[in-house]
Amino acid sequence: MTAERRPQAAIGSDVLALPGIGRVLRHRQGRLALQMLLTIGALALILDGFTGPQSAARNLATVTPWVHLRGLVVIVLLLAGNLFCMGCPFTLPRSLAKRLALRGRRFPQRLRSKWLAIFSLFALFFLYEYLDLWASPWLTAWLIVAYFGASFALEALFRESAFCKYICPLGSFNFVYSTLSPTRIGVKSPAVCATCVGKECVNGSYAAQPSIRLDEIPTVAGARALEVRHGPQGTLGCGTELFAPQMRGNLDCTFCLDCVRACPHDNASLFTRAPGAELAQPESWSRRWDVSLLAIALAFMGVANAFGMVPPYYALQEALALRLGISSEFVALLLIFVALNLLLPALAAAAAGQLGRWLTAAHKRDSLRDTVAAFAPSFVPIGFGIWFAHYSFHFLLGPGLIVPVLSEFLGGSGDWARWSFSLDATLIGLLQLLVLLGGFIWSLRLAQKAALRLYRRQALLGMLPWALLQLLLMLAARHIFTLPMEMRGTLALFG
Ligand code: SF4
Ligand code: SF4
Repeated sequence: MTAERRPQAAIGSDVLALPGIGRVLRHRQGRLALQMLLTIGALALILDGFTGPQSAARNLATVTPWVHLRGLVVIVLLLAGNLFCMGCPFTLPRSLAKRLALRGRRFPQRLRSKWLAIFSLFALFFLYEYLDLWASPWLTAWLIVAYFGASFALEALFRESAFCKYICPLGSFNFVYSTLSPTRIGVKSPAVCATCVGKECVNGSYAAQPSIRLDEIPTVAGARALEVRHGPQGTLGCGTELFAPQMRGNLDCTFCLDCVRACPHDNASLFTRAPGAELAQPESWSRRWDVSLLAIALAFMGVANAFGMVPPYYALQEALALRLGISSEFVALLLIFVALNLLLPALAAAAAGQLGRWLTAAHKRDSLRDTVAAFAPSFVPIGFGIWFAHYSFHFLLGPGLIVPVLSEFLGGSGDWARWSFSLDATLIGLLQLLVLLGGFIWSLRLAQKAALRLYRRQALLGMLPWALLQLLLMLAARHIFTLPMEMRGTLALFG
């Protein structure tokens, strides 16, 4: 479908037209400055992780990513957008590799899906628990080094940003939950895109040899010619191969703004929109199994991740050892995590979809895949609520902790007494309850819309299994958050 015939989902104001911030973001080096800042931060984490105190609460490598960054990422996703991917330091070596490489190969067709992303999310959460990454600055530093290495190697080998699009667990988390964000990439005039020759937003304006092209641009006063320059100073096109005029949402968008800088017609930009708008638009969401299960599994992973930090998890591990003779911690954890993070979401989604089809007698008309895909976006708000409640809990218990840790890293003495404040536990509990309930209600509303679309007068019956599933997720998360939870990364203060 062409950009002309396919109307854009509603967009609001042009964020990049704002004075100051808009200019910085559009500037060729605007993103680079943010990336340099975060790269220096990442190098500091690596240095402290390898050479600093091996106490989780006193080391930048553990306190920054496992306490502060996660808490800030969920807040920023909700209020602004995928700014973490925008400033991601791992894409700096990636961009360098891309410029050094000859035109690389395409990522293998069979791997171009979200299955790898689901697996890498699972692997990260599993390793986090098994290796107690939150307690080990040294291992966390190695993880950051591995991240730099993987992004560099993949970008050097493949033409597209395979690491961001298909593998990176942090990016996958941000992609899914930036669908709730109040901003997204769009175009000012689909008509200009329809006549655009080079489609630089996706193809880029970077070329080893300089060249000039003349484009005819339609304007209200008639067509005018525009000089389009390509060359070594040009911008790479969209790394995740999104085409700005056809974008309907934020999935796979790293907010790098390369499309904005590459567009010769100043037609692509970052716009405000209603938060989560794409979740209620069926044409914005892929019907592929991998995309659906990524959104659903992430919500279950939120519960499983929190479950790994409360007493019933250890009781379950003991029961596995006593009843099944599984004494290996690795095997027990693997069994529990595979069951909760992968099998349970897949089976629950299939069961809810099948039940909804039977209850509404739609099993002959709608495939199970289409049914699950219709309800998958409704798991984004409840999933986000669960992660937000969890990450904000750790963050709000020691928001000032980063100051003495940084001070000690820079050779000073940390004023621990001054910065050891935390938000009142009752207030944190209330906040958790509010975000869980908010996410649940938002999810119910989306499930209701999907059911009305699919089943019309039988919508109530059709949404029932999905609403029950979301209720169970919310209650399970609520119950876990009322149990004593390990104060990971803040032991010096509260342990
Ligand atoms: S380069 Fe600009 S004008 Fe051309 S298709 Fe992309 S956004 Fe539209
Ligand atoms: S270039 Fe692609 S990933 Fe980057 S902001 Fe534009 S659409 Fe998003």
